[in-house]
Amino acid sequence: MVAALKYCPQCAKPLVEADHGGILRLGCADKQCGYVHWDNPVPVVAAIVEHRGQVILARNAMWPPGMFALITGFLEKDDPNPESGVLREVEEELGLKGRVASFVGHYPFERMNQLIIAYHVIAEGEVSLGEELAEYKHVPFEQIRPWPAGTGYAVRDWLLGQGITPLPFDRRFLARIRNFRALSERLLTAGQPTAEEFASLAACGVETVINLALPDSDHALADERSVVERLGLRYVAIPVIWQQPEPEQFVEFSKAMVRERTEERTVFVHCAANKRVACFVMLDRILNQGVPREVAERDLRAIWQPDEIWSAFIEAQLAVGCK
Ligand SMILES: [Zn+2]
Repeated sequence: MVAALKYCPQCAKPLVEADHGGILRLGCADKQCGYVHWDNPVPVVAAIVEHRGQVILARNAMWPPGMFALITGFLEKDDPNPESGVLREVEEELGLKGRVASFVGHYPFERMNQLIIAYHVIAEGEVSLGEELAEYKHVPFEQIRPWPAGTGYAVRDWLLGQGITPLPFDRRFLARIRNFRALSERLLTAGQPTAEEFASLAACGVETVINLALPDSDHALADERSVVERLGLRYVAIPVIWQQPEPEQFVEFSKAMVRERTEERTVFVHCAANKRVACFVMLDRILNQGVPREVAERDLRAIWQPDEIWSAFIEAQLAVGCK
């Protein structure tokens, strides 16, 4: 998330949310001033740098170890065009002179409110890292694993354009989703994702989304079903009231999970914080898959310690199931 503005940059009065152009936006509390924070996406250039027959991926000094991506940077006021901007970034960050071989595409990066403009750049010379980068590596084209967000989509498209079938998207990037847990190759769980994170899940092979949250749960999307179905995924909503889980809801969930396993689909189950889901999934594993309770319970406790209502619900379902 991009930090929100608090005060008017024109007159320093507080900003307030109001309807501007049909959308809630921050604007100056003072009508006379009239400032509106439109929050337009910022253009960012990205380079798939080809150097000595391989692609250079780099790790920003602010990123955790093991996280490599493209060379990117903001356009500057004096860049005559995005092509010059991307070559300037390649020279600043890698110390390499390059030329633009092709335009790859533009990609929204909602989390950062950016529009990524991606190029294939062929560069020559000796690498000398700029201060923003911690390390870099050369990767043969066919060994690049695209990541399911931002510039990763540009990499996938570029590889396809080179006649290379890209490796599957790197699922490690899904760990950004709230309380994300991969319980198996075909069962992923989490709290509420954003629309962009649903796209990442789809890119990583998810075929069905099961939502146990209510339409007005924390961070719920306005129309999750259409967001998910537009991505080509199946959508199942089983709204479970946080303070009042019902046995019928678990029966419905059980049926859905058994069906998904029979059809061998990759399933993503979410609620608001992965608490409801952790309980339902634990019960499904114990009752329908014969997973030992201590194993299933360990995954539940990694998310939370169920309260009185949920502990009672779990025990009741186990008692029914054990009859
Ligand atoms: Zn103002």
